[in-house]
Amino acid sequence: MRLVPLLALGAILLVSWRAPAAAKEKKLPEKFNKSPYSLMSLSVGTPNSGWQLRAKKLKSSPHLRVKKGSGAFVYGHPALVLMLHRTSRDVGRMARGAKMLVGDLSAKSGGPLSGHRSHQSGRDADVGFYVRDPKGRAVTLDRFRQFGGDGKAKDGSGYMFDDHRNWLLVQSWIQDRRAGISHIFVAKPLRKRLLDYARKNKNYKLHLNAAAVLLKQPRSSSAHDDHFHVRIACPKRQAEICRG
Ligand SMILES: [Zn+2]
Repeated sequence: MRLVPLLALGAILLVSWRAPAAAKEKKLPEKFNKSPYSLMSLSVGTPNSGWQLRAKKLKSSPHLRVKKGSGAFVYGHPALVLMLHRTSRDVGRMARGAKMLVGDLSAKSGGPLSGHRSHQSGRDADVGFYVRDPKGRAVTLDRFRQFGGDGKAKDGSGYMFDDHRNWLLVQSWIQDRRAGISHIFVAKPLRKRLLDYARKNKNYKLHLNAAAVLLKQPRSSSAHDDHFHVRIACPKRQAEICRG
């Protein structure tokens, strides 16, 4: 006797729980609810106040490790996810020995994410620095570590900021025209360190100006001395719904 009302209540709850996402979708300009947009991943609003639809999940690969604890928040626009795979492979092939460590992207449907101001619309990713252990060997860490402008880990562990690989990563991001990187946030002393490193090698000088423009320490949030925060531009043909 009581099962039926309970099932009915369950159905009502399920419908009301699902309603916000569906309602959001309906508020998009009409064409975005039709093919081909209805089949695409969409990045809506700004990184600080936005959401996403049909996001792609980032998975670990031979060149990339998803950081423990970030597994539920590694959803992003495919342009971002594929860019991370391409550039981690690029660095891995040029300097074998370490994987890219990736933390949070966005939640599956986007929206506010604990510990971040942005990361709401599937265009942001936190990427750990490439590091060397106290013996100088390239290693992949399982968490982010803070580094100072002297290249040393601030926790006194002896880990060193790997100038070579971190520069190769920045260079690979700059050259990745498919996704179009719009920002790379990093602490000022590490920005200076990377640019100084590139200035010493004539092969890297070519990308110095682009790096100087893209690398910046955000004014409004934490110092980014334990990871890069990389953001891609709005995906193609989504300028009407994607901002910032
Ligand atoms: Zn971030």
